[in-house]
Amino acid sequence: MNNLKLEHLPQEFELARPVLQTIEAAGYEAYFVGGSVRDTILGKKIHDVDIATSAYPEEVKRLFKRTVDTGIEHGTVMILDHGTGYETTTFRSESTYTDYRRPDQVTFVRSLAEDLKRRDFTINALAMKENGEVIDLFDGLADLSAKQLRAVGDPEQRFHEDALRMMRAVRFASQLDFTIVPATLTAIADHASLLAKIAVERTQVELLKLLQGQTPKRGLAAFMTTGLWQYCPEFSGHEASLNDLSERLSTGMSSETAAWSLLTTQFSLDASQISPFLKAWKTANQMITDVQATTTAARLLLERELQPWEVYQCGGERLTIANEVALILGAPDRGSQLATQWADLPIQSKKELAVTGRDLMQAGVQPGPQLGQDLQTLEQRVVCGELTNDASQLIAAIQ
Ligand code: ATP
Ligand code: MG
Repeated sequence: MNNLKLEHLPQEFELARPVLQTIEAAGYEAYFVGGSVRDTILGKKIHDVDIATSAYPEEVKRLFKRTVDTGIEHGTVMILDHGTGYETTTFRSESTYTDYRRPDQVTFVRSLAEDLKRRDFTINALAMKENGEVIDLFDGLADLSAKQLRAVGDPEQRFHEDALRMMRAVRFASQLDFTIVPATLTAIADHASLLAKIAVERTQVELLKLLQGQTPKRGLAAFMTTGLWQYCPEFSGHEASLNDLSERLSTGMSSETAAWSLLTTQFSLDASQISPFLKAWKTANQMITDVQATTTAARLLLERELQPWEVYQCGGERLTIANEVALILGAPDRGSQLATQWADLPIQSKKELAVTGRDLMQAGVQPGPQLGQDLQTLEQRVVCGELTNDASQLIAAIQ
């Protein structure tokens, strides 16, 4: 056990101190816990402040005017204070996991040590008092200095209890640029197949964070060597591609769309294969549309420059993503060229076309499939600069 007292707390903690003080004044214990404590010690920006307390949810609710039951069955109450919400969770121990996912039963306890024991990694099992004093029961501070991820307690048991922790390990390796200690890494390799039991939406969150982390190489390398990749939907047959990526990817992807596009492009999926791939991962439909566009463009960029119509079809922000992906996979950087090509297009969307279907009907074109065809032809010819985007010229062209 180490001692550390932080003298200067980030603003987010300063603002939250009165919340802890209120809980303590009522005779309970309360601590800052989780990622915000870890990230503060690492000198990183924090995003949300989580609190753990010995007070039971009903007791927490009695102490504050405004609370929301965000996860009361797990002991979590959100305390609203000066416009900020603080997730406040009662100390708990988790018993028997029969399905490798969620504890069968959450038991509230009054002891911080019990609560910290059920946490995944030593660096995530730190607690901090309101005055900045850090409680470190599992040598998390030493692991933070050594930039190591180590499971709390027996790693084999911990991954057997909750298989998502294995994906969290590789995700943190990438996000924090940490190594996974050998015993923990071996335990992941031993239990990798249990990942198949985890809801794909939860695996997806970790995979995307991994690909957007600061050293995705590290995370991907562990994801590959432990065999976790084999238990991800639609990854089978792509081992070589994934290994190749783990060598190429020197910085994190800029967005979730970019992360998916990298995978689909690297796996050489065409537009029709992208839909079942992303559906297996349960992404939103808009993601499928976007990734189809970026992947089509990225695949072309690996061969050559884009033609105006191709620039138009990918469009806007998605061009930046296509370029980002193609660049990683070995294409030259065409970022500024694409930006110019996009800006120079006569129109950037169908809405800007000077005629509508109704205009064409008024000019005598029969309604039906031909009308749609005509409109698309006009759109394409305007984009390519063969026709001026002027209503009378476009109608004349059709007639
Ligand atoms: P992030 O910066 O991504 O929010 P985090 O460490 O705060 O990272 P959360 O998912 O917000 O991650 O979880 C908060 C804390 O809850 C973790 O730091 C860890 O102590 C604990 N925790 C989360 N998920 C698990 C899990 N599957 N098993 C054990 N402990 C967990
Ligand atoms: Mg968090």
